Amino acid sequence: MKTQILPITEESFKISERIIREGGVVAFPTETVYGLGANAFDTRAVESIFKIKGRPNDNPLIVHVHKDYDISSLVRCIPDYAVKLSEKFLPGPLTMVYKSRGNVSPAVSCGLDTLAVRIPAHEGAQRFLKFLDLPVAAPSANISKHVSPTAAEHVLCDFNGKIEIILDGGKCDGGIESTVLDCTGEIPVILRSGLVTREEIAEIAGDCGVYKPKEGERVRSPGMVYKHYTPNCRTALYSYSDRQKALDFYNSEKHSGVNAYIMCDSRTAELIDADKILCLGKTELEVASNLYGKLREGERLAELIIAIAPEKQDGVMVGVMNRLEKACGSKI
Ligand code: AMP
Ligand code: MG
Repeated sequence: MKTQILPITEESFKISERIIREGGVVAFPTETVYGLGANAFDTRAVESIFKIKGRPNDNPLIVHVHKDYDISSLVRCIPDYAVKLSEKFLPGPLTMVYKSRGNVSPAVSCGLDTLAVRIPAHEGAQRFLKFLDLPVAAPSANISKHVSPTAAEHVLCDFNGKIEIILDGGKCDGGIESTVLDCTGEIPVILRSGLVTREEIAEIAGDCGVYKPKEGERVRSPGMVYKHYTPNCRTALYSYSDRQKALDFYNSEKHSGVNAYIMCDSRTAELIDADKILCLGKTELEVASNLYGKLREGERLAELIIAIAPEKQDGVMVGVMNRLEKACGSKI
């Protein structure tokens, strides 16, 4: 199979629509990362996403719809706080989990009685979803456990010859996956941190929990237990206060002939004396936006990525740290 990268045009949408209606998959951009989409009503199509990615079959998918789609046809029991949150943050990088009506294929939620719904803000994604007027089940368009894709070339790198079409919407600005919010209880609970922060949700909803699985309990969001986002090279992660130790490690590895790179934000880069740096940028939004691209650049260039965590650990950085820890291991 030849994989084509196509621009966001009506012509590309027509080709993609045919593929999706025939049970195939199409990669498309969103403001967070690229998704690998299939018709959420079609069980075989949804199952093929799991096969192509090598995704564990207990890790449910998010359904993507355009902003005018009637989500009450897919889910029920939408609490008042969820209505307020939708008004504030949607379209945007916030996925909301509700009780499912069971209309989409059961393969989407891997047998759970809930459904995760997202309305992406990316203009190309909105146009594509409107063109299809279907709920599109889509995980990130990367081989399972590899670094998520934030550019069409990243998708090509993982799926060249395995999928027909990648719709190219440029670099994803957001850069880390959506916040996943459980809206089935009295208060919203974050299942996966992301660009919409706990503080922002609590301000609108009055309160917001953060889910931590208890020992022995079945996890409410299976995806959170898997190893994720890992580059194909050795990695290490140091806390900001241990940046000198990170530099010592870098120097000793370099001395032994290892091609090592430090990955950090630009402020930290100014403080340390290393010649090979993967710089994540200055602001917290830049750091989130560049993280996956730099991990992919790192695996191409380096034998070892030594990441130094940002000093700031709240807000958007909660989501960044969650990805950094999964990508580069726990802090040393
Ligand atoms: P990905 O598609 O790779 O961005 O991952 C989707 C994330 O959403 C995973 O962490 C899933 O566990 C989570 N998710 C999807 N559907 C549900 C659901 N019905 N209930 C809880 N978490 C979900
Ligand atoms: Mg993913």
